[in-house]
Amino acid sequence: MTILVTGGAGYIGSHTVRALQTKGYDVIVVDNLSKGHKQAVQVPLYIGDLSDRSFLEKVFAENQIDAVIHFAALSLVGESVIRPDLYFGSNITNALSLLDVMRKYGVSQIVFSSTAAVYGEPMEVPIPESHPKQPTNPYGESKLFIEMILQRYAEAFGIRYIALRYFNAAGADPKGDIGEDHRPETHLIPLVLQAVLGQRDRLQIFGTDYPTPDGTCLRDYIHVNDLSDAHVLALEALADGASSTAYNLGNGRGFSVRKVIETAEKVTGRLVPVDEGPRRPGDPAVLVASSDRAVQELGWQPRFADLETIIATAWNWHKNNPNGFQE
Ligand code: UDP
Repeated sequence: MTILVTGGAGYIGSHTVRALQTKGYDVIVVDNLSKGHKQAVQVPLYIGDLSDRSFLEKVFAENQIDAVIHFAALSLVGESVIRPDLYFGSNITNALSLLDVMRKYGVSQIVFSSTAAVYGEPMEVPIPESHPKQPTNPYGESKLFIEMILQRYAEAFGIRYIALRYFNAAGADPKGDIGEDHRPETHLIPLVLQAVLGQRDRLQIFGTDYPTPDGTCLRDYIHVNDLSDAHVLALEALADGASSTAYNLGNGRGFSVRKVIETAEKVTGRLVPVDEGPRRPGDPAVLVASSDRAVQELGWQPRFADLETIIATAWNWHKNNPNGFQE
């Protein structure tokens, strides 16, 4: 089976490509390399943008694609607030373009990279998939709109999809040759490790007055390889005839920013220099997933659920590749 992975040179994409290869799938990647890294991919890579229709058609014409995993998207909450035009423009139109080319070439199965940001401020924790969807930023809205488009395309055109709503992706493949390399970096665990390495003066804690036990936000950190496993399981479910649906992917436990820092200190044996700062706009106090449905229906079993293991795999990547992928 040949799987097209859009955004396969990115963080979660490149780990999923590896999981697919391990399972014996043929994989091709489409990536515009705006955020992704060529070095992260060891399969055929088409460099180009999903907004380029003739490029996309060429990829489908040259390969017998059986199913698609769609990662490629802009994914920074803060940026989406300042540039909603980019997020609505590119995330939604690129997904539409991809779906239309899939229809033209008779490809009817897609796994879609969605997000916990579709829920907005939680009314219930852990958050089940049925929770109201009230995103608080254009990034979450763009992903929710695409889920709605997928649902309509499923009804009208027979496309089947599984949307996977990630909580906080973290960690790196224990092999150590691929990992998280965002430029600029905005995510907590890599920022903590960069502070440990002296690449940043200090880690700023965004808010210490949240209604949580230690005053800092609680997040559900999920290992990138566990996310990758879920994509493979979702593809297999679709191949077995599963109906279209969405699943949360998290560990079901919330860790505070302070707990992440403390665990990083334990893992690295070094101190994390910190500053306590104001809240970051748009951050809910608590985001924790209920992933019971993914466990029951996909047979998903996280292998790296422990926070210390997650941080240790990230540390293994960062300390050996302090400057990320070498361009
Ligand atoms: N955070 C922080 N300092 C930073 C970056 C993040 O205190 O420099 C906090 C952030 O407020 C949130 C948690 O760490 O509570 C995880 O943030 P991240 O950006 O990694 O993921 P998000 O939850 O936004 O998807």
